[in-house]
Amino acid sequence: MPDPKLTVLISAGQIQTRIRELAAQIDKDLEGRGPLYMLCVLKGAVLFYADLARAITHPVRMDFIGTSSYGKGKSSSGEVRLTKDLDTTIEDFDVLLVEDILDSGITLSYLIHVLQQRKPRSIRIATLLDKPERRVRPVVVDYVGFRIPDAFVVGYGLDFAEDYRQLKDVCVLGE
Ligand code: 5GP
Repeated sequence: MPDPKLTVLISAGQIQTRIRELAAQIDKDLEGRGPLYMLCVLKGAVLFYADLARAITHPVRMDFIGTSSYGKGKSSSGEVRLTKDLDTTIEDFDVLLVEDILDSGITLSYLIHVLQQRKPRSIRIATLLDKPERRVRPVVVDYVGFRIPDAFVVGYGLDFAEDYRQLKDVCVLGE
């Protein structure tokens, strides 16, 4: 039974097609470089991260970082803290930080600041979704899956109070 609160915004097929394009661009940008440290921002980016990693042919190393989330609400508290740090050093590595959605920019600007102190060779950012209208802090993103309007979305890793993460499509959650 389809959930009446959900409307598909980006289908699973569209997501996979776009991931192949992003991976091809990432492979091209990394030509001649050492292994890429791919960092997954938990938990929302996990499906995008896993699919993107498998589409990239350049050698990849993996690590995970956690930030405080929106909890049970639909809007950010504006405060970010690390809930899980990396297990490994990224010093002198090319880093790709993989995020699910760029909204106000507060989370990513915080994470970039934290990671820069670890002295990576470079930091690139990939985000599946971008809501440019909502930006409070400017963030330069290298790889954007889809620019979307200001709506609360779930699925393909994104949750509402921990539900809906397993959906294959990105959907708008209505009332
Ligand atoms: P920012 O710090 O850029 O405002 O927000 C980034 C984080 O907010 C994302 O990693 C995600 O966890 C959450 N977020 C922002 N917009 C949405 C949305 O539409 N749906 C869901 N599920 N999470 C969102």
